[in-house]
Amino acid sequence: MNKETMFIVKRSGKKEIFNPDKIKNAVRAAFNSVGYSIDEDVYDEIVNSVKVWNEMTIEDIQDQVIETLRNLDYDEIADCYQAYRLEHKQARFIRERIDYMDKYANSGDNASTASETDANANVTMKNVANLEGEVYKVTNRRIQRQRMKDKLNELYPEDNDLGKQYIKDLENWIIYTHDEASSPVLKPYCMAATLYPLMAEGVGVIDGVTPTPPNDIQSFSGQVTNLVFLLSASAKGAIALGDYFIALNYYVIAEYGPKWYDKLDVNTTTDHCLKPMTIRRAIRKGMKQFIYGVNQPAGNRSYNSPFSNCSYYDKTYFNSIFEDFYYPDGTQPEWKAIDTLQRIFMELHRELRLIKPLTFPVTTFAMVHDGTDVIDKEYKQLCADEWAKGGSFFCYLSNNPSALASCCRVLNEMSENTFSSTTGMTGIMTGSCNVITLNINRIVQDCARKHHACMFREDQQQSISMHGRFPDYLKEYLISILERVYKYHIAYKTMLYDLEEKGMFSPSNGGYIYMKKLYSTIGLIGYTEAAQFLGMKVSNNQEYIDFLKLIFGTVKEQNKLNSIRNKKRPILFNSEAIPGEGLGVKLYEHDKKDGYWVPEDQNLYNCYFYNPWDNTSILDKFILHGKQVASFCDGGQALHANLDEHLSKEQYLKLINFAIQEGTNYFTFNIPISECKSCGHVVNAPIQECPKCGSNNIDYWTRIIGYLRPVSAFSNPRKIEQKKRVYSTNLNEIP
Ligand SMILES: [Zn+2]
Repeated sequence: MNKETMFIVKRSGKKEIFNPDKIKNAVRAAFNSVGYSIDEDVYDEIVNSVKVWNEMTIEDIQDQVIETLRNLDYDEIADCYQAYRLEHKQARFIRERIDYMDKYANSGDNASTASETDANANVTMKNVANLEGEVYKVTNRRIQRQRMKDKLNELYPEDNDLGKQYIKDLENWIIYTHDEASSPVLKPYCMAATLYPLMAEGVGVIDGVTPTPPNDIQSFSGQVTNLVFLLSASAKGAIALGDYFIALNYYVIAEYGPKWYDKLDVNTTTDHCLKPMTIRRAIRKGMKQFIYGVNQPAGNRSYNSPFSNCSYYDKTYFNSIFEDFYYPDGTQPEWKAIDTLQRIFMELHRELRLIKPLTFPVTTFAMVHDGTDVIDKEYKQLCADEWAKGGSFFCYLSNNPSALASCCRVLNEMSENTFSSTTGMTGIMTGSCNVITLNINRIVQDCARKHHACMFREDQQQSISMHGRFPDYLKEYLISILERVYKYHIAYKTMLYDLEEKGMFSPSNGGYIYMKKLYSTIGLIGYTEAAQFLGMKVSNNQEYIDFLKLIFGTVKEQNKLNSIRNKKRPILFNSEAIPGEGLGVKLYEHDKKDGYWVPEDQNLYNCYFYNPWDNTSILDKFILHGKQVASFCDGGQALHANLDEHLSKEQYLKLINFAIQEGTNYFTFNIPISECKSCGHVVNAPIQECPKCGSNNIDYWTRIIGYLRPVSAFSNPRKIEQKKRVYSTNLNEIP
């Protein structure tokens, strides 16, 4: 091809006719900058020696120029040319980042929509603090990928460039590594920590400032809030405190003696105090300090509030988890005290949400059943009663008191009692050190293409048989991907272990949590869309349930086979039906763009086993999230039943019974809370008009995924999805 008719591809992607003079000018500038001046025909010789081809990029041309200069022994000029090139690259990067910052500030979008990488509704307002976190997300991701690439190639030199494969899998949207861009450093994902070290030594061990452990309700409330922020700074995701009430009780006793619950309404102040203080009020004050504290945005997390979780236990759970627990002073917590604190907190949380809806802490009501009924009948009544009164929390039901849902991501199956009598630690340390999610819709379609199991189709009419050999092919194909993903997890966790050994993680240094307690999580998404692609209906039907069992069952089975039960550096895998707040949108859009089949009546991937946008009955939702499939999700799944009004206590009791019967172990009810944007009045129900000021400007708080947020803070695609959600209350359905 003639050089004059060739095209080059500019950085913008536009094509332009190749012009050798441009190369000549750049080379001349490089020579001039080091004080050389040479004959014009030498420039021509250099330009003629540069290898060029049609549709080469600017970067290719620059590479060729440098190579040519070196071949002709102009090394000094080549260095100079290279430096000039880097300088321009950096200038372009800075210009582009400044443009992004201007765009972020000027756009009318909220913080979630304006985010380039990870839309997250856990940001109340757009400001310089969250913009700061956004600017380098792209660079953070590059750093994370390069580090993983290096480690994979080091650990698996025999695997033909596994590092490259990792990047390829990410770029092809087969897998997704969660929160890759939030930080350039290595951090675990989420963790449930014990508060024992706080009681024993105080938060000073990890903040380096606080001189003593807490000694009363107020100092405990301050330190525990501070601790949530400190732990969050070392993690990408959620922090769960499994023993908040146990720890709080220690300080109520310190102030008011062991039988404090018998004198809750006794006035503890003198005539000199203008505000009389009862023990109940002192406790509520401490709880309030904690609740408002953890809802504060964290400057070191791009203005996200730290994602925090707390658990309420019924008596059976309490006895099982804390029967061997001793406080630092050698005493033990009494059930009566913990029960009283939990009830005060539930009531307070409900009340505060009516003043201003609150996101954190996300709370879970954990109860043990014997296969037929909850063992602690009083707590079963309390749970239903709290829901009927408008409380908003998750319910976790288990027939094994050692399993615990400590946060929406983590379900801890404690195979052994990890209590240690020397440190007083209980088995509430768990979490996830890394989450890599599989895009099941793409994987299933790739497999179908590979095995020519279908004619690739535009419409949904043609169905692909899940009979015959396709399920076997699919299982085999899924395993081949999992084999690589386990190695990716091993590389990440190995690096975390290395850093932990070097003392880089404060939570480990302080004894709050250890890397070995954290799972490497395989997330799953796109399974309902894959089922639709295969011609199934997303509803309570056996073919669909069998498909979910095949996918989730294969992952669980492989997790067990591939876990490394090394004593010093264990690597344990679990799986989770992830709450893909932003990811559901991203994968839907990429798959659609890349020619995969996606349901046209959705704008993102579903994160439930049922369809939240149709009239699936509440009982079918419970059945689909029941043991048939949920038993394969050892890392968690949750049913968020969308209702348009609060049910009665009797109805909630019936649903708890139904959940036990179906083995539905983790669920909540989601009834929108209305907040008047004109006067601030809050109504715990979806309303159209403010009863106080008559305004129609109402914001609704609803669970975007697991956590309550105002719809105004949702990203645009999530707002579209929220409008399509069916919030129903068909009371006739409840048995
Ligand atoms: Zn109003």
